[in-house]
Amino acid sequence: MLSGGMNDALSIARDLVRCPSVTPADAGALGVLEKALGAAGFEVHRVTFSEPGAADVDNLYARIGDAAPHLSFAGHTDVVPPGDEAAWTHGAFAGEVRDGFLYGRGAVDMKGGIACSVAAVLEYLKDNGGQPKGSISFLITGDEEAIAVNGTIKLLQWVAARGEKFGHCVLGEPSNVETLGDCIKVGRRGSLSGTLYVDGIQGHVAYPHRASNPVPDISRLIVVLSDEPLDHGSAQFQASNLEFTSVDVGNTAGNVIPGQARAKFNIRFNDLHNQESLRTLVEARLTKATGNRIKARIVWEPSNANVFVTRPGAFTDLAVAAIEEVTGRKPELSTSGGTSDARFIASYCPVIEFGLVGQTMHAIDERTPVSDLEKLTRIYRGVLDRYFG
Ligand SMILES: [Zn+2]
Repeated sequence: MLSGGMNDALSIARDLVRCPSVTPADAGALGVLEKALGAAGFEVHRVTFSEPGAADVDNLYARIGDAAPHLSFAGHTDVVPPGDEAAWTHGAFAGEVRDGFLYGRGAVDMKGGIACSVAAVLEYLKDNGGQPKGSISFLITGDEEAIAVNGTIKLLQWVAARGEKFGHCVLGEPSNVETLGDCIKVGRRGSLSGTLYVDGIQGHVAYPHRASNPVPDISRLIVVLSDEPLDHGSAQFQASNLEFTSVDVGNTAGNVIPGQARAKFNIRFNDLHNQESLRTLVEARLTKATGNRIKARIVWEPSNANVFVTRPGAFTDLAVAAIEEVTGRKPELSTSGGTSDARFIASYCPVIEFGLVGQTMHAIDERTPVSDLEKLTRIYRGVLDRYFG
């Protein structure tokens, strides 16, 4: 399968890595996919999205077939910056293969994963008369690593506006922790941020009775809000967590009691909450802790990171079977880690994340074993055969 054809996973991955597509640049990356998928009979759309204050970003949607079931492979071709390029053993955008590893920014996050899904689909089509028993699509964005406003969220809306429906989706993010086959992500916690403000009365440190110092008060509130658990975890999730990330007074004078203190925090929450219930819960705890004395309030930041989970069932079962067949491992169904574009996809169809091993993502010398590219291609092929079989 990796014996040197144009459409094997390694060739596609190298072509993609050689495009320095640091967000929001495309640098030819989507063109690599457009060419490969177009040649296989996909209807390929290139869509550019705009947002005031953000750079325009290119996206790609490609589909073959018009019947159900509809399996979609999702991913992003943008990458994080290479950092100090001189520190790389092999060029960050050279696509070099050494000692059985493909080096380069995006090798695991996630150009390698996209390459494997494209290679698997092309092979599946070749073996099935060029047409799927249903539909296959690719949802590929160039806006995941940065602010993610001109990417998957809009591409999904664009596809839905065409009247198209998704059946299931595989997002090829590097889900595995140590070894290919150890982990499928079936959900992600939500993320919600806010700032706690405590108002005091500014004054001279020598006359504290004329002032009200917000520093001890905000300290007490931080302890109260940090100490009481939000929950104790759910069937598929670890416990939710509220974490304070900064405390600021902005006071440069040693003889002034400040008039205000503020503290930023972030909550990673599981499926026992939604954003509204969480805001209500935290504000009730705050009100209880402040009593009538402390003047405190929370300003919440808008968030598009809701919790989601894909329940175990036929779709996760077929993915597990495909992974076990190739790797001999039974993957954990995990909901740990940060957010991903799966949170947007989950509003349209069940989604799982399975890709390469994440160990070197975003690091100097990002790399993947070439053998993992081959195995992941076989796993995706196994998913296709089972899904349409
Ligand atoms: Zn990624």
